Amino acid sequence: MRDLKVVRRIADLRENVSQWRAAGLSVGLVPTMGALHAGHVALVRQAKSDNQRVIATIFVNPTQFGPSEDLKAYPRDEAGDMAKLVDADCDLLFAPDVTEMYPQGFATSVGVSGLTEHLCGATRAGHFGGVATIVTKLLLQALPDRAYFGEKDFQQLQVIRRLARDLDIPVEIVGVPTMREADGLAMSSRNRYLSATDRQSASALPKVMRAAAARLASGEIVETVLAEAKAELLEAGFSKLDYLELCNEASLQPVERVTAGTRLFVAAYLGRTRLIDNWPVA
Ligand code: AMP
Repeated sequence: MRDLKVVRRIADLRENVSQWRAAGLSVGLVPTMGALHAGHVALVRQAKSDNQRVIATIFVNPTQFGPSEDLKAYPRDEAGDMAKLVDADCDLLFAPDVTEMYPQGFATSVGVSGLTEHLCGATRAGHFGGVATIVTKLLLQALPDRAYFGEKDFQQLQVIRRLARDLDIPVEIVGVPTMREADGLAMSSRNRYLSATDRQSASALPKVMRAAAARLASGEIVETVLAEAKAELLEAGFSKLDYLELCNEASLQPVERVTAGTRLFVAAYLGRTRLIDNWPVA
């Protein structure tokens, strides 16, 4: 197995990138919070097929977690992650510690209004500010040609597209389709929190989403379909829903009718574990 080069300092990251640039090589960036699974690996593989060199980053970003969220408990497995990155032919891992990213006196934040108040933004105050700030930093630190983000976190993908455009960051943001388990559950680092019973209940989520999306696409009444899908999720064992909504995928605002670019979005709890997913409708 070949070695994966690991750097923990921004200066070392930049040094590697400048050597690649001097050699005329293209660079892809894959930001993650670690605890890697096949969804992350798909991002790295896509990046490697589009670029000559790929950087993965692992940083559990404290500013995107709310006070009652799972920052301390968030799964960490750097050795396992490194093995997966080697396998996916990643060239460099950037894994800074918190003081490297947020030195004393850090005072700047990036906010993307309009796209961040609704859906996950409605219940996770400050989350997208934390995401936008750290992703802006990573993009400016690495200055890649392309950066890769999963459609699984569709709202996050749109927020990042907007900040790159608004701040004139010269990078192409590439969205990668959601990788799913055999039963359709979207892969997530948080799935490992699920008990065996909750994991069984979780398989209702993609089934309900797929069925609801098909009914909506065939012209059934939006309000009825959404109400029935919510009831099915609660029936399947979900304890609470933050939202199940039909939205326009560019504006992320709720819509009452299916038109081009409408997508179904869900956030639902199994016990303390919050799962999100989204499904194209038209
Ligand atoms: P995370 O480590 O959860 O912050 O995710 C890092 C990147 O991987 C983000 O761009 C996610 O959208 C993406 N990602 C997470 N889960 C999946 C999945 N199941 N399929 C595709 N991409 C994913």
